[in-house]
Amino acid sequence: MILIGPPGSGKGTQAQRLEQLLGAVHLSTGNVLREEIAAGSRLGNAAKTFMNSGQLVPDQLAVEVVAAFMKRGGSDTDYILDGFPRTTNQAEELDRILDERGLAVGKVVEIHTDDEVLMERLTGRFGCTKCGEGYHKSFKRPKIDGVCDKCGGAEFDVRSDDKEETIRDRLGVYHSQTAPILPYYAKKGLLVRVEGDKSMAEVTKEIETILTDGR
Ligand code: AMP
Repeated sequence: MILIGPPGSGKGTQAQRLEQLLGAVHLSTGNVLREEIAAGSRLGNAAKTFMNSGQLVPDQLAVEVVAAFMKRGGSDTDYILDGFPRTTNQAEELDRILDERGLAVGKVVEIHTDDEVLMERLTGRFGCTKCGEGYHKSFKRPKIDGVCDKCGGAEFDVRSDDKEETIRDRLGVYHSQTAPILPYYAKKGLLVRVEGDKSMAEVTKEIETILTDGR
């Protein structure tokens, strides 16, 4: 399954919830790239400038991440792809990678959300530096201010690409480069749209129904 949506539409959260519910493996190219940057690897160094300025990393790097990740999985592994593909070229490359492994795209779920809602969500995000647990200044504050619910850590940070100006750039990139891949999947009869301004649980339920009923 592929989850497509603008930054802040809840792709990552939904992918995590569905991973547990469906027993599938969650692959977030953004998470892998952030780990590579933290590790100071060749891939991380190549991706860093693009990511910090809200631009897409070159297709070749994103494809490399996905191909390497899938090489480690079995031929019967189900994947939830979050943040990939993001360009038409990546969508074509994905078909090639899956084909080689005897796999195919099952469903493509677009989480549709208006830009104003996204701006509010993204400008308030922060995370625990120790365990990575995510919070939001309006929607999900730690139970005790300044203390992580999950690990008790007391330090938090904001993703370097969650600053207001960078967020505008990321939304622009979504509309100009990623949204155009929706017709690619619509033509194949694989695309389904859900509205992302509902509660997290409602969106999960809708996606589950789509996957089980094959809507
Ligand atoms: P995300 O965590 O999905 O919001 O991704 C964060 C950033 O990682 C994006 O703004 C891009 O710079 C980079 N990135 C993640 N996935 C891709 C991809 N499939 N293609 C190009 N860049 C990507």
